[in-house]
Amino acid sequence: MKTVLITGASRGIGAQTARLFAANGYAVAINYCCSCEAAQALVEEIVAAGGDAFVVQADVADAQQTADMVQQVLHRCGHIDVLIHNAGVASQKLLTDTTPDEWRKMMATHLDGAYHSCHAIVPDMVRRHEGVILTVSSMWGITGASCEVAYSAAKAGLIGFSKALAKELGPAGIRVNCVAPGVIDTDMCRNLDDETRAALREETPLMRLGTADDVAQALLFLASEKASFITGQVLGVNGGFLI
Ligand code: NAP
Repeated sequence: MKTVLITGASRGIGAQTARLFAANGYAVAINYCCSCEAAQALVEEIVAAGGDAFVVQADVADAQQTADMVQQVLHRCGHIDVLIHNAGVASQKLLTDTTPDEWRKMMATHLDGAYHSCHAIVPDMVRRHEGVILTVSSMWGITGASCEVAYSAAKAGLIGFSKALAKELGPAGIRVNCVAPGVIDTDMCRNLDDETRAALREETPLMRLGTADDVAQALLFLASEKASFITGQVLGVNGGFLI
């Protein structure tokens, strides 16, 4: 049975990705940081539907916690076929209002988290000469968003990280790709008022906000054999918002 470890899978895009991968035969390690109940409920839902899933708690900003989490998954499953680094936080404020702690948290979750999880998983993938690593960036990492300098910088970093790692790990049979979602209707966007949501829909050629499933389907494709000659790419999932 193939195994996937999804960081930040207690809610939103990560949770829907867990459902989709489980429905497609993967054993799913559901990482969460704080939302223990939501993660447990998701496991129960997946198991009730006949799938295989279990929770692994870790703050991906913490190197030791992330390394321990990976060992826990390797111990239970024997190997990890797919890593999806999806954990993320967002905040909207001027750069000049962003405190050093807020800046650090943004970099730590998105970028340090990618380093910590890949650093822990890659040796096993290299030994087996196979594996897929997927990262979840954002269209703001490509184009930049006003009042989201820290978020945009972290997401841009994640794109550079993924491209460089794809070059480094290609000869070892490991593919690394990145998805860059547009505006996706999850908790992360709950603070948007109706007017802003309508304006965002208007600006999107496909005239709607994205769903967690839109992103999950792209991740499933990139993890599959159908994408066996695709590596180092950034796949936009944004309804045409950014072309
Ligand atoms: P969400 O609903 O707010 O979920 C965020 C997830 O990340 C939660 O499961 C949360 O777990 C987890 N998380 C946060 N900090 C963590 C940490 N330090 N360690 C481990 N897990 C952590 O957000 P979402 O919309 O699904 O976003 C998922 C990813 O997509 C993020 O990387 C986000 O930047 C990216 N993205 C989202 C959008 C969008 O419009 N929604 C657009 C582009 C990109 P806990 O609740 O357990 O802390």
